[in-house]
Order: sequence, then C-alpha cells, then structure tokens
Amino acid sequence: MSQKIAIVGGGYVGAELAKSLDDTVEVTLIEPRSHFVHAPAMIRAVVDPSLLDRALIPYDRLLTNGRVIASKAKAIDAKGVTLEDGTRVEADQIVVATGSGNAVPFKPQGSDIADLKADNQRIHQQLKAAQSIGIVGAGAVGTELAGEIAHAMPDKQVTLISSDDSLFPTMPSKLGRSLAAKLRKAGVTLILGQMAENLKSLTKPYTGPLQLADGSQHDFDLIFPVIGSRANSELLEALAGVEKSTANRIKVDPWMRPSALPNVFAAGDVVDAGDAMTIVAISRQLPWLKATLTGVVEGKTVEDMKPYKPWGSKALILVPLGPKQGNSFLGFFTAGDFLTSKMKGADLFLQKYAKLLNQSES
Ligand SMILES: Cc1cc2nc3c(=O)[nH]c(=O)nc-3n(C[C@H](O)[C@H](O)[C@H](O)COP(=O)(O)OP(=O)(O)OC[C@H]3O[C@@H](n4cnc5c(N)ncnc54)[C@H](O)[C@@H]3O)c2cc1C
Repeated sequence: MSQKIAIVGGGYVGAELAKSLDDTVEVTLIEPRSHFVHAPAMIRAVVDPSLLDRALIPYDRLLTNGRVIASKAKAIDAKGVTLEDGTRVEADQIVVATGSGNAVPFKPQGSDIADLKADNQRIHQQLKAAQSIGIVGAGAVGTELAGEIAHAMPDKQVTLISSDDSLFPTMPSKLGRSLAAKLRKAGVTLILGQMAENLKSLTKPYTGPLQLADGSQHDFDLIFPVIGSRANSELLEALAGVEKSTANRIKVDPWMRPSALPNVFAAGDVVDAGDAMTIVAISRQLPWLKATLTGVVEGKTVEDMKPYKPWGSKALILVPLGPKQGNSFLGFFTAGDFLTSKMKGADLFLQKYAKLLNQSES
C-alpha cells in the first residue's frame, strides 16, 4: 500500500510539494483557504487591484490523485493530523508548512479570500485618496511598495522609513545604494536610521501622525506598517522538544524536523532552517524535501540521507520598483533594471504559479 503524506498548509512549500508527490504517494493537503495567495503580486495589487484575479489562484485543480481538504489543522501527532472539526487525517509522514502572517492587504488575516479582496479594495481607495504616504519598514516588501506607488501614482508623496542606516544592509552594498538612488530619483523620500515610535497598528494601514526616534513628528494620510512576517507556529509549539527562534519561527534539526517526532518535517517560513523567510529559500528547501520524503517512502533512514544545507550568503533577492525598474542580487553580482524586470518585475511570477496550480492564464 502506498505511503500517506499529510501536508499542512498550501503556500509555497505545501502546494508545490503536494503536486510533486501526487503521482507517487497518497497526498492530503490541508489548507483552509480556497485560493493560493501569491504574495509578490499582492504588493502591486495595492496600486492595481485588477491583478488580484491572477494573484489569488484556486486550489481546485492542484492535485490529480490526492485531495485538498479545506480546513485548518488543530493538532499533530505521530500518526496524523486532527482538523478543526475533529476529523482525523492519518499519515505516515507529516509536513508542516503553515508559513507566516504579514499585514493586510499583503497576506490575509484569516482564511477568507473575500475578506482579503475587501481589504485590498478598501486600502486601494484609501491610497487613491491619500496625498502623503508613509511606509514603515524598508525590507523587500516596503521597498517594493514604495517603488510600485512611485511608478503607478507619481503624484503621491511617498516616504520610506527604516531603522537601518541603509537599504538591505546585510546584502552587498551596491544593491541598497542603487535601489535608494532609483527611489529618490522617482521622488520617494528616504528616512534611514530612524525607528518609528508610535505605530498604532502592525497589521493594517491607517491615517495618523508618526513619531520617530529623533523626536520628529510626521503626518501621513496613510501609513503602511511593513515590519516583517511572523511565523504561524501554534501547531508546532504544541509538540515535544520544540524550540523557538526569532519572529516566532521554530528551530529544526539538520533534516528539517522541529520536534521529537521523527516523521514530522517542517519547512518554509514557519521554521528557521538557517534561511530567510522567502520563496527563494523555499526553492532550495523543496528539492531537498522531495528527495528526503521519497527516500523515506523507499525505506531509507532519515539520518542516512543528506542533511539540508541553507543558502548562506549566496541567497538571491529580486527587488522590482514597479514593472520596469529595480535591482537584484543574483548570488555573485548585482543586476539592474533589465534583468530585474525580465526575471520578476514584468510578470511577478504570475504565469509560473498559475501553471503550478494547473490554471490556464488567458
Ligand atoms: C507581500 C509579500 C511579498 C513577498 N514577495 C516575495 C518575493 O518576491 N520573493 C520571495 O522570495 N519571497 C517573497 N515573500 C515571502 C514569501 O511570501 C514567503 O516566504 C512565503 O509565503 C512562505 O511560504 P510558506 O509555504 O512557508 O507559507 P505561506 O505562503 O505563508 O503559506 C502558509 C499556508 O498555510 C496555511 N495554514 C496556516 N495555518 C494552518 C493550519 N493550522 N492548518 C492548515 N493550513 C494552515 C495558510 O492558510 C497558508 O495558505 C513575500 C512576502 C510578502 C508578505
């Protein structure tokens, strides 16, 4: 009889892993949302809500043999997963890929895709009505958001605020320098090395005064808090032997196991395997995960297989500023507008994910 694998969470890890194992094992993907949320396109969708139809992709065609159960997992044990309504999903191997949350309208707050669409519409209208916009947090999401607004709505006054002294301080300096120069040229004000002191919300945009660490006060028609993702780790926290890292993430052993249970694996944003919380990291974890689970199904012992090795300093990052501009660090050099637009900015990987979920793009 074929092995049963339960995957909890259908984001970048769960959806792709489920599809890649669909022909060889009995796959059950547990995911409460009706649609896959393609996060990179959710930034541009703030300035162009028509993108939502492509950024939110239904799960109904993902698997041919396995099943997708539209429910939230409540608990995991060595023999399977218990769903919210008490239903059991028995499994030989379990992969937890519950990912992370972020502010609306970039990721949903709950499972309801209609709520996410309503949030997007509301915030788009607020953005259209606003003249001055403050973006607090200059990681990839904040920087891209500044670039998208400057490109699509050039009459807005956009201010990008970071507590770091430069953009992307952990990457080769050319990346941050070049992005900062392009943003300034597009009219974006950069306030660097300043912590925001009185953020009223960490999860949704709002209107209000913003006080910075130097005592200065700034009035914005709309403030976007973009201070990073937090892992959805509740399920894993309940397991024996689990240890937390930063941003709510859970530590894993060299074979991506978070607890004392040898048949429970975890990947993506929910765990700290030495990688950043990115799809880029997941693109490295997925082939390893697939090979390891295939080995287990064939009867190999996990510890006899190769441990997972994170990206280290070679991790790529692609930062478009709208469809035509941007910069990327591609592992050994920093690329400019042309490659960033071609690799990401123009299409935002929308075609790739439509294909993954077996949906045709017309
Ligand atoms: C706006 C934005 C833009 C981004 N752009 C990029 C980019 O361009 N490049 C890049 O590399 N990274 C990017 N990232 C990071 C990237 O989105 C994350 O690394 C990625 O989403 C993590 O994938 P995941 O599979 O771990 O989890 P997620 O994508 O977060 O998916 C987790 C899934 O698990 C489900 N889930 C949660 N709890 C349960 C439960 N109890 N039971 C069942 N299901 C559950 C959720 O509904 C969700 O569908 C971006 C992030 C944001 C917020």
